[in-house]
Amino acid sequence: MDLASLLRATFGFASFRENQEAVCRSVAEGRDVLLVMPTGAGKSLCYQLPAVARGGTALVVSPLIALMDDQAGKLTGKGLKVARIHSGLSRDDARQACRDYLDGALQFLFIAPERLRVPGFPEMLARRKPSLIAIDEAHCISGWGHDFRPDYRTLGDWLPLLRPAPIIALTATATPIVQKDIVAQLNLIEPALYIHGFRRENLAIEVVELSKPQRAEFVEKFLARPATRPAIVYAPSRKESDALAVQLNVQFPTAAYHAGLEAGTRDRVQRAFLSSKLDVVVATIAFGMGIDKANIRTVIHTALPGSVEAYYQEIGRAGRDGLESRAILLHSFADRRIHENFFERDYPPIEDLDRVARVLTLEFQPAEPLWERLEMLPDTFNKAVEKLCSQGAAQLDMVGQVRAGATDGWRSGYKTQMAHRRAQLERIVQYAETPQCRMSALVRHFGDVVGASRPCGRCDFCAPQMAAAQKYAEPTPGENRDLGRILATLKANYAMAAGRLFTEAAVGKDRRYFERLLDGLARAGLVTLSSESWTNPLGKEVAYRKVFLTEEGRRVSAAGALGVLLPDEGGAGGKPRPVRAERGKGADAVQVQFTESQAELESQLRKWRKAEADQAGKPAFFVLSDAILRALVLAAPRTIPELMTVRGIGPNKADRYGAAICALCRGQGVGEPAHSSQTTA
Ligand code: ADP
Ligand code: MG
Ligand code: ZN
Repeated sequence: MDLASLLRATFGFASFRENQEAVCRSVAEGRDVLLVMPTGAGKSLCYQLPAVARGGTALVVSPLIALMDDQAGKLTGKGLKVARIHSGLSRDDARQACRDYLDGALQFLFIAPERLRVPGFPEMLARRKPSLIAIDEAHCISGWGHDFRPDYRTLGDWLPLLRPAPIIALTATATPIVQKDIVAQLNLIEPALYIHGFRRENLAIEVVELSKPQRAEFVEKFLARPATRPAIVYAPSRKESDALAVQLNVQFPTAAYHAGLEAGTRDRVQRAFLSSKLDVVVATIAFGMGIDKANIRTVIHTALPGSVEAYYQEIGRAGRDGLESRAILLHSFADRRIHENFFERDYPPIEDLDRVARVLTLEFQPAEPLWERLEMLPDTFNKAVEKLCSQGAAQLDMVGQVRAGATDGWRSGYKTQMAHRRAQLERIVQYAETPQCRMSALVRHFGDVVGASRPCGRCDFCAPQMAAAQKYAEPTPGENRDLGRILATLKANYAMAAGRLFTEAAVGKDRRYFERLLDGLARAGLVTLSSESWTNPLGKEVAYRKVFLTEEGRRVSAAGALGVLLPDEGGAGGKPRPVRAERGKGADAVQVQFTESQAELESQLRKWRKAEADQAGKPAFFVLSDAILRALVLAAPRTIPELMTVRGIGPNKADRYGAAICALCRGQGVGEPAHSSQTTA
């Protein structure tokens, strides 16, 4: 069978897209296949063409009625014989579809997964075996995926009945762990794995550490150059999206876009952006679904996104025209804390779910009396119900009444969901904090190991000299000397925790200066850094970086040129100078004017420092220097990770004093912006 002619004759496409042909051939030959390609890459063809080539009827399982209708419509339009069975259709239609299926009159039968639970339905399908089975959006089967669908879980039970047809599972978002889960749950037999198309060749990715208050100014300066527009800026909350849009609109036509706006306003913004009346849209995650604007030059994230998957989707909107474009992620340690807060809000403890599950009955009941009876906040109650629903343990009707679901085995599923969400956060934090080729890291995230082995040559790691968001410069003689010291210390040890290396290399007291050198060495390929963590005596998980010397790093002589580039702190590239309490020579080079509440915090910190020092029988500066104390006042860290971003605070100080310092800062109540609307965008 000549697949290329079939492609033209039946589907009207002139040629295969990258990778489609190989996948089609495998499926046509009867192999099981797992296909992972980004949205829009053309996965559907990879089951549709082989289905026509093999003859008989292809059975397609799809989780959404809209997806099913869309595909069925397209195939019908190409003159193929198609039927659907889902809850949106009449009983007569379903019956007719079954008859046509059994008569062998169909080339494609689309079914919703829950159909397989209908008694007798799988047996009916088995009376005439399909020639191919396609599972679309296959990540829904996995509790590790973000769209877990309880109805997908039982798919694997029915498939043996329908064999020996080959099975092709298709998805856009599967990470390696989800991929394994799909293969296992569907019982794919020696599947061919095709994981392709995640690498983008025209996208220069930069990741810049920048404190929250500096980000708006950065965006304004960066987008001032016309060549950087049109642009999408992703902001973490509606409030921030509004504020930044107003600020940018002074410079160039800009509007906000988020779910808090009326549908009409949103449509107008989207149309204006598409027709280039707007240069920039400052959006929350709600923007960009189905946005097809080819010439977007820049995508900026002003905060750490919730997952690598979401981030990848969002930066993927840049440069669809194939021309050079840029994605910039602004983040700092504090972003992690914000996500941790959301996690706590969005994932109520198991006990809450338990209490709610216990009052649900088989009859629908209005929610209000239930939460009153449980003495639970409506928000918590609703979250708990939402989570139970996603596990099939509760159901909502149209008017918000709730009843028990078909299963009460939700606990392990919910735990998996929580673990998955945590892992997602960990992954995006690691992505942002690890110096590495950004594109390779993304491609690897989606499981394309082969594709990940080639550096992209254009990200801030591969090509710092070409970076736009952050200027890089040759090290000064002093920095060169310190780089040499770090390498020499590592040579004696091979692998070290960054904190220990900092102490032993003795390149000064400033931890951030050291980290900057370390990142420079990593960019030059002389060391590699990995994120590790340990649980401290307080039971708190503390992240740290481990440093390994590479073969290249071992070979360079400290005297020779190292090829290291360091971020230029001068801010020549439009990056605002980081606000630091201690800059210049002495701590007093910059005299900071404290606000009243800051002065209050300062005096409390001093009091505490004195007590600590007295207890240890040491002078006060042994606990914290004045410079660090002032930096603490300015940063007012409320959590350990946040504390670690303060200049002069390393893991040792954080461990010893962290709890006390953060408690004082929390009592002060400073520096806590409200982010309550963030993920409800
Ligand atoms: P995915 O499921 O991967 O998100 P689709 O299968 O829906 O993507 O395909 C996206 C679009 O690409 C569809 O409009 C489809 O018709 C089109 N397409 C797929 N393959 C080809 C091809 N070989 N040539 C041209 N267009 C194609
Ligand atoms: Mg699809
Ligand atoms: Zn790169």
